[in-house]
Amino acid sequence: MIKKALVFIMDGLGDRPIEEFDNKTPLEYANTPNFNKLCAESQCGLMYTLGRGKRPGSDTAHMSIFGYPIEEYYTGRGPIEAAGVGIKLEHGDVAFRGNFGTVDEKWNVLDRRAGRIKDVTVFAQALDGLEIDGVKFIVKPGSAYRAGVVMRGKGLSSNVSSADSHNAGDAIHQVEPLDNTKEAKFTAEVLNKFMKKSYEILNNLEENKKRKEQGELQANFLLLRGAGVYPKLPKFTEKWGFEKACCIAGGGLYKGVGAFLGMDLIDVPGANAQVDTNLEGKFDAALRALKEYDFVFLHVKPTDSLAEDGNYLGKKEFIEKIDKYVSKLNEVDDETLIVITADHSTACELKAHSADPVPILFHAKGIRNDNLTKFGERECSKGSLGVIEGKDVMPNILNVMGKLPLIGA
Ligand code: ZN
Repeated sequence: MIKKALVFIMDGLGDRPIEEFDNKTPLEYANTPNFNKLCAESQCGLMYTLGRGKRPGSDTAHMSIFGYPIEEYYTGRGPIEAAGVGIKLEHGDVAFRGNFGTVDEKWNVLDRRAGRIKDVTVFAQALDGLEIDGVKFIVKPGSAYRAGVVMRGKGLSSNVSSADSHNAGDAIHQVEPLDNTKEAKFTAEVLNKFMKKSYEILNNLEENKKRKEQGELQANFLLLRGAGVYPKLPKFTEKWGFEKACCIAGGGLYKGVGAFLGMDLIDVPGANAQVDTNLEGKFDAALRALKEYDFVFLHVKPTDSLAEDGNYLGKKEFIEKIDKYVSKLNEVDDETLIVITADHSTACELKAHSADPVPILFHAKGIRNDNLTKFGERECSKGSLGVIEGKDVMPNILNVMGKLPLIGA
């Protein structure tokens, strides 16, 4: 009887044929004995995460896989990032993802990341708790130059423009309401006051004076984007009938997805979403977690970042590195289902996410395995799972666990 599930998502794993790889994808070309062994014992298929012809973002793709229809629950990246930095969101909060950047006195953006500043804790603390017209701003530091920002108060809307053009050199403009509601107008007004106030505070901060003296770029502006309102949403465990769910990820967005859905976040030292991330630590943490949790979400990021740089060789090598630790999954007990897939394809050729489907496998004792010999896009297309969508993943997991409700008599 299967009682637990481990869902392992490699970001942007799927890809397109690469000429230098004999027209194989990085996954197909990589030497992956451990993935292949699991694959032979699995039921396999392909997945269009958001459906055919839809190019998924990482946030929307993960929400789909975890069974949260994006039409209903996705309002922007802000609330997910804010959850990821540990802000407990409340219904009606408007959340943003933030970057501490550098502007001149005319608010021309000199650097969107304040010289890739490594730690913004002091700067976030200086703004955290600020109140403007009855609206409270919660500002918490994220990794490096990033921050999660929440506006909490009555009568707010996320339908406001971004003040940030996303290009260095451009000036910050005023936030505009994007509809005629008084909520959107009010929110835009408060945000414009916040920008002014926060610039004054940051510019006069001792830490920034020090940075200036040392010839470093000041973190004197908080750039906001990805506005979204926090929706009422059911906790993952309650929605799908698990006892305890956890998330093991290095990237802020993925921790955010976990926290947003009410999963516990398990920190792994050295898990930094970079190529030198602590893969061994993450797999060990996942195995340990399976003793306490009946649902474990394990995420690895660099497969996506490498493809976004067009680095197909790096992607292939990183897949081979992951494969080494995949051997650890042999240690899971007979009560565990392992699902391995990606949130979307990231095509090295495009240096971007693509709508190409991704391979997916379901590995569990007693599953009707397909005896496929190589974990890869085209091999998995021969599997008996066929072509599924992200929304099919959770029902499939429940089926393997014998937990699906009966339709009819
Ligand atoms: Zn992704």
